[in-house]
Amino acid sequence: MKKDTFVTKEQIEEIVKTYPTPFHIYDEKGIRENTKALKEAFAWNKGYKEFFAVKATPNPFLINILREYGCGCDCSSYTELMLSDAMGIRGEDIMFSSNNTPVSEFELAAKLGATINLDDITHIEFLEKILGSLPKTLSCRFNPGGYFSLGTDIMDNPGDAKYGFTTEQMFEGFRILKEKGVEHFGIHAFLASNTVTNEYYPTLAKQLFELAVKLKEETGAHIAFINLSGGIGIPYRPDQTPNDIRLIGEAVRKVYEEVLTPAGMGDVAIYTELGRFMMGPYGALVTKVIHQKHTHKEYVGVDACAVNLMRPAMYGAYHHITVLGKEDVPCDHKYDVTGSLCENNDKFAIDRMLPEVEIGDYIVIHDTGAHGYAMGYNYNGKLKSAELLLHEDGSVQLIRRAETPKDYFATFDCFEIFERLKESN
Ligand SMILES: *Cc1c(COP(=O)(O)O)cnc(C)c1O
Repeated sequence: MKKDTFVTKEQIEEIVKTYPTPFHIYDEKGIRENTKALKEAFAWNKGYKEFFAVKATPNPFLINILREYGCGCDCSSYTELMLSDAMGIRGEDIMFSSNNTPVSEFELAAKLGATINLDDITHIEFLEKILGSLPKTLSCRFNPGGYFSLGTDIMDNPGDAKYGFTTEQMFEGFRILKEKGVEHFGIHAFLASNTVTNEYYPTLAKQLFELAVKLKEETGAHIAFINLSGGIGIPYRPDQTPNDIRLIGEAVRKVYEEVLTPAGMGDVAIYTELGRFMMGPYGALVTKVIHQKHTHKEYVGVDACAVNLMRPAMYGAYHHITVLGKEDVPCDHKYDVTGSLCENNDKFAIDRMLPEVEIGDYIVIHDTGAHGYAMGYNYNGKLKSAELLLHEDGSVQLIRRAETPKDYFATFDCFEIFERLKESN
């Protein structure tokens, strides 16, 4: 089966004259249309806000596009907070959803006025000690344990996840926070990842809305918002049906009107912290075939490697591959598509049926817009690629340059011997 690319062979041949492969390229048009659809799907909720999960694609140019639609940032680390601050995103536009959080990160989050989402009941005391007193608004991350299922399908295993408060701890935590003067409460949960079904959010919402009603009744806490977090997935495989965000928004509304409105909680704001859904399909890794190898298997060697996209090596994740210009050629050749790391798991695809590939072909690895560039590392001394933005008018903007050896050697500044290397490009 085929998957459409948002760039053509002709466009790529033009782009590589300025920006050599490999690079990640993002589709501004797709990002805008999707963000608009998300906003419309939840327009029924007055306080609705998407806090983009910065870790998915920490690029200020892309986050600035989301800003135009009123999105904030979901941060989980010191530098993600710095990035938001540098972009002028502060205060209630930042959700700080961290775990195992260092002192310095809570300090910066509080300084920026971010809404802090506590991951553990012991963090109440930890935070109070750091800040002197608690903020007026706080959120708690919930983990009910067990399995998260839709009907008979097990979607994920929260019981095995390190995150969040247990049910009892939520009640206990809310009581303690209330005594300590917290006035507005949030509830957060992330119970299944990359769900390609319209049922995930409504099922999660029902669970959290019912919990919210009980928490309000038993502790008297004012629940200001419920954060459905991330987890809406994307169809990495061409035979998967994409989520319909309009249906998801409507189904969440239905549960809201069934559970929250009758409990006198019709003013609760709905928040989301989507990452993958916002950017995943609108990014692609473009790479060039530089070798072919015929041994025990047929190998296609490309100029990208797991440093540029780690998901296949790390989770065996599927990313669809299109050989540009050969979209209509039958996929009658079986290849392993490999990078150049000295690790046998550095393969973008294993036993993948593709059209006959030649050296010099450009290959698009689909759906790298989230958790793609961001997961990059420098193993084997390989350097991270550039990021490009394809504007709606067809022009291309460099939104992050490729790393150079100078970047790689920059952290050796205590050793004079490396000064020469740091000068080199
Ligand atoms: C990773 C993460 C997200 C985003 O998850 P996606 O699967 O990209 O939607 C949101 N919130 C928290 C706390 C996360 O850790």
